[in-house]
Amino acid sequence: MEIRIVKASDSHRKAKPTDESKLGFGKIFSDHIFTMKYHVDKGWYDAAVEPYHDLCLDPTAMCLHYGQEIFEGLKAYRGKDGAIYLFRPLENVRRMNVSAERLCMPTIDEELYLKAIRELVLVEQDWIPHGQGTSLYIRPTMIATEKALGVHPSSEYLFFIVVGPVGAYYPEGFSPTKIFVSEDYVRSVRGGIGYCKAAGNYAASLYASQIAMKMGYTQVLWLDAVERKYVEEVGTSNIFFMIGDELITAPLSGSILPGVTRNSVIQMARSWGVKVSERPLSMDEIMVASAQGKLKEVFASGTAAIVSPVGQIYYQGKEHLINGGKTGELTERLYNEILQIQYGEKEDPFGWRMKITP
Ligand SMILES: *Cc1c(COP(=O)(O)O)cnc(C)c1O
Repeated sequence: MEIRIVKASDSHRKAKPTDESKLGFGKIFSDHIFTMKYHVDKGWYDAAVEPYHDLCLDPTAMCLHYGQEIFEGLKAYRGKDGAIYLFRPLENVRRMNVSAERLCMPTIDEELYLKAIRELVLVEQDWIPHGQGTSLYIRPTMIATEKALGVHPSSEYLFFIVVGPVGAYYPEGFSPTKIFVSEDYVRSVRGGIGYCKAAGNYAASLYASQIAMKMGYTQVLWLDAVERKYVEEVGTSNIFFMIGDELITAPLSGSILPGVTRNSVIQMARSWGVKVSERPLSMDEIMVASAQGKLKEVFASGTAAIVSPVGQIYYQGKEHLINGGKTGELTERLYNEILQIQYGEKEDPFGWRMKITP
């Protein structure tokens, strides 16, 4: 399918941010949007990069009532050599198609999806910031647009992609976070849609996050919904625990999101000879390891921060300090190595980088 490109006129363009240290995350968006429509009788049609615009939806558009909404998150990086890179974008494309399947939404041809990202990022390349650790965040989204009430899969959809510059996650170096283990509320359960990047999962997570924040914690550590015993994820990231010489993360059992960063961490750590286990890990085991001094490092993984060190865990009324509240050695090494691959500063032994500039 051809992608129509309609460039915004100069008067339609926004002023680009001048201070890259104040970009933050998710507040600024560029001048263009990619859109493509779907109708059950004709499939996907009308793919275009157009001037950024509001969406016009009927109040009965099904996404507003029954939650058929899925999204993705990835970044474009400006390398030292001036080239523009994506990091494992096919993984995001495939994951979105997995989400689509589960929510009875249409999948998108992988080639076309990648082409859409590439075209939009190339049109917006002047929006990619230059500072170290900065990037262009890419947010593909699909919503159900059929005008109808009644619970059934929509017959029409809109797929769109917006992009915007985001700041460096650690402008002043690592800052280990404090996390709160949620015992009362759960995010998702096996058999549900926890493995999909679907809007409803995030709505379900807000309440516990607010409780954690009021108590002074940055993120919620989710436990499995059935036994409330095994660790699953933290906020919108996966989580890893270094106990003795074993790096442990929850298995992909259906209730957690299969993070691209999670997978990269596993592959990279294994390539260094670290023993990595994807297995159920209970809070009891973590507490025993902590008491015995064997809990060496804890970190979250995700596209936004790559890895984010955890310095403290609150569980059953007590705070537990990890590695003296400091960033662990493995955490820091993973961060540096993945970052250097993303920005084209290092060999790419895993074939993760995709250069999109000619
Ligand atoms: C996006 C997300 C992650 C991390 O996935 P990445 O592909 O590494 O960015 C983990 N957990 C949840 C709930 C997420 O939404």
